[in-house]
Amino acid sequence: MKIFISIFLLIFSFACIGNSISAAPLKPELAIVIDDLGNNMKGTAEMMELPVNLTVAIMPFMPTTKEDAELASENGHEVIVHMPMEPKRGKRSWLGPGAITTDLTDEEIRSRVESAIKEVPHAVGMNHHMGSRATENERVMRIVLKVCKEHGLFYLDSKTTGKSVVGKLAKEIGVPYVENNIFFDDIYTTAHITKQADRLAEKLVKNERIIAIGHVGITGTKMVNVLKEYIPVYKEKAEIVPLSELIPGYELIDEGP
Ligand SMILES: [Zn+2]
Repeated sequence: MKIFISIFLLIFSFACIGNSISAAPLKPELAIVIDDLGNNMKGTAEMMELPVNLTVAIMPFMPTTKEDAELASENGHEVIVHMPMEPKRGKRSWLGPGAITTDLTDEEIRSRVESAIKEVPHAVGMNHHMGSRATENERVMRIVLKVCKEHGLFYLDSKTTGKSVVGKLAKEIGVPYVENNIFFDDIYTTAHITKQADRLAEKLVKNERIIAIGHVGITGTKMVNVLKEYIPVYKEKAEIVPLSELIPGYELIDEGP
């Protein structure tokens, strides 16, 4: 009889859980990632004040790397390392210090990624700054991802090249991996950023998990103004979450050394 009652209770409680899940409409989830912090870039202070949980990607070895990471964490934003990596086009000086280039030895790549992670307090993940050449290179990305794995970091591929090997290697090495769905400011005008913000709002109806990337710097002030206008819209349509919440099982990963 006891067993019968417990089974009955078990079935009953499952039925209740089932009901509560189907009764509450599930909102789509949105993570807003802001790249290029760490160098006192335009729009940084205003971005930090936005009434929403952002994920901020902070460049290592820059004048305000630590300051930006601490402030972001205090204000409830999630921090990731914005690792500078070799592009196919563009000046080397745009990369900043400690960049990963394809001419480096295995040891040097490992040491630069290790130092970058130490430089950015509170980091739980990594994405790359530029990187269209480096992210096509299996030798280079295998080392970067192994170090991420050792430190319990996830990887966001912003897909600066169609031939990125990051997704394939992340799966092989066992690094939690996500890709972005949309850029706000790939063209630097308010008109374009607003158009992208509108497209994002439309996507929130159809898709369940969306990652959108914007920047501080050239487009910083424009980005802040557009976000101020659209955050209420996004909050209405979706749950705005830190990037790590879009990664299944992320909380199960060890903190790393
Ligand atoms: Zn960048």
